[in-house]
Amino acid sequence: MINDTLILVNKENGLPSSYIPTDLELIDHKFAYDNKYLRKEARHSIEKLGSDALSLGYKIVVVSAFRDYKYQHDLHHEYIKVKGLEDAQLCSARPGYSEHQTGLAIDAMGSNNDYNLFEDSIEFKWMKNNAHKYGFILRYPKDKTNITGYKYEPWHYRYVGLKAALDIYKNDLTLEEYIKKQT
Ligand SMILES: [Zn+2]
Repeated sequence: MINDTLILVNKENGLPSSYIPTDLELIDHKFAYDNKYLRKEARHSIEKLGSDALSLGYKIVVVSAFRDYKYQHDLHHEYIKVKGLEDAQLCSARPGYSEHQTGLAIDAMGSNNDYNLFEDSIEFKWMKNNAHKYGFILRYPKDKTNITGYKYEPWHYRYVGLKAALDIYKNDLTLEEYIKKQT
């Protein structure tokens, strides 16, 4: 189901080009750069995560969240122009196949102010051990490219809900593996 929190969007499973979630909400500017939107449940959870992190001295900022089809189209073609098709496909989704279109995915930036270098931030270490407590998973882990189709993205997190996030975290799974396990 398209509005399911566990919706699988990857290279094989896409969304209609017209799909825009109906419950998108603006993330509090305290936790996001500029105007960023997520679906209600994910928006609530990322603000709780951001606020708890902040109280411990970690500054986590959402630099990308919901992206519509058109935005992804332009972004993907920009990647192809710069990196070439093969490289672009490992780090950028073609339009209709981006998890960002679900309104359940974010790219995070830490206190070192560069999402590309999120892995080097103190926030990354915190996220690694705590994101699942808020229903988020590291979506493209290291050494899972053969399953996810994407190279390691330490900054990209996906909201899947508390139960799934805990199982995925504990058993070191990808969303693909988790969903397969359920059926
Ligand atoms: Zn992302």
